[in-house]
Amino acid sequence: MLSIDRRQLKTLMAREEEAFIRAHPRSQALYERARGSLVGGVPMTWMSLWPGGFPIFAREAEGARLVDVDGHAYVDLCLGDTGAMTGHAPAAAVEAIAAQSRRGITTMLPTEDAVFVGEEMQRRFGLPLWQFTLTATDANRFVLRIAREITKRPKVLVFNYCYHGTVDETFITLENGRPRSRPGNVGPGVDPIVTTKVVEFNDVHALEAALAPGDVACVLAEPALTNVGIVLPEPGFHAALRDLTRRTGTLLVIDETHCLCAGPGGYTRAHGLEPDILTIGKPLGSGVPSGAFGLSAEIAAQMTASDEADYVDTGGIGGTLAGNALSLAAMRATLEHVLTDAAFVRMIPLAERFTAGVEDVVAKRGLPWHITRLGCRAEYLFQPDRPRNGGEAHARKDADLDAFMHLFALNRGILLTPFHNMALMSPATTAEDVDRHTAVFAEAADALLAR
Ligand code: PMP
Repeated sequence: MLSIDRRQLKTLMAREEEAFIRAHPRSQALYERARGSLVGGVPMTWMSLWPGGFPIFAREAEGARLVDVDGHAYVDLCLGDTGAMTGHAPAAAVEAIAAQSRRGITTMLPTEDAVFVGEEMQRRFGLPLWQFTLTATDANRFVLRIAREITKRPKVLVFNYCYHGTVDETFITLENGRPRSRPGNVGPGVDPIVTTKVVEFNDVHALEAALAPGDVACVLAEPALTNVGIVLPEPGFHAALRDLTRRTGTLLVIDETHCLCAGPGGYTRAHGLEPDILTIGKPLGSGVPSGAFGLSAEIAAQMTASDEADYVDTGGIGGTLAGNALSLAAMRATLEHVLTDAAFVRMIPLAERFTAGVEDVVAKRGLPWHITRLGCRAEYLFQPDRPRNGGEAHARKDADLDAFMHLFALNRGILLTPFHNMALMSPATTAEDVDRHTAVFAEAADALLAR
């Protein structure tokens, strides 16, 4: 099997780092200045994950294009790690956002847009009753509380190497088959092994054993893992998950924040899933902070019937700005005009084209790499076999090759998501954008293989 010469990789990486620094003097100067007032020189520490030693500073972004302060234009396949899956600044959303800003941003009162969005979410995802938050993290945090409140059970269950936002209960992994607080978990209030069970994705037996004692309030799951590369569910996994949760009285929460890429109603609609609760966020408001959770009629009835739990004041669910007029105007415009049914008809074939392009490069050179697609999202892994679960996916990550590919692509005008090798298609992405990536990917492969 072809293998990559690691010394060559180091030499190539050094060359890319030099080229990056040479081409980005303004970003570098802003970064140096920012280090005087911002932790790590960035507004949020995770922004330092971009390759090259410092992040490029963005000047403007429109559609699938981003321009940095040095004047370089990029094809943006990162799209704000799904926050801008709509494309940047889509005209219909920008208009609605500007108009609503002039009419008042937050009033503590519902607007007509809220009704439109509730009805549209119902149509898309099948769940009848909705609430709005500012982030997917908040949606997940709130539904874990609701699930525990309704079931009177203490635990939640997640899959190994899941990511659902900064939700305390989810920072747990399996190490040699045993649950552990996830390495790096910052100042946990409670060790997550107390609150949470964790099993591998696609492991029906482990799931069955974990749910059997009847102490799990809910399973919180992405329909496919998307935060450790893409790990697809095996045939029958979702049927087993639904069956086991129903049989044990465990609620099923499906997090569609990334899997919305599977279609206008997410993976849930595309594959006929029947969650009790669904959560989502990120692109819903074209980048304006927006999240949501949808509840089955039964869950909503149990929730509102409780006279112990305080859902309207200081019970632990809320957010003064949640459901504000601006985010609902943005959500309405996004759902009505941007991430429409028709948009997915364009976006998904673009991801198919992206996948075919990468597969062709890999096959022609006999490289031991593969790519996995989910709707309008695709991600490559520098390994021959598709992982079956999060543990395998995490173990197979090739950090050096990942960093090289990101920087090589960035230096040639393509942005990939820094956390992984993910590319996302927006309604504004074009076939030329995709082909540009394929050409750069081929160039990187050839540079790595040159002797
Ligand atoms: N759910 C999933 C599946 C996610 O991938 C993320 C973020 N990557 C979140 C929830 C949290 O989103 P946010 O950080 O916008 O709250």
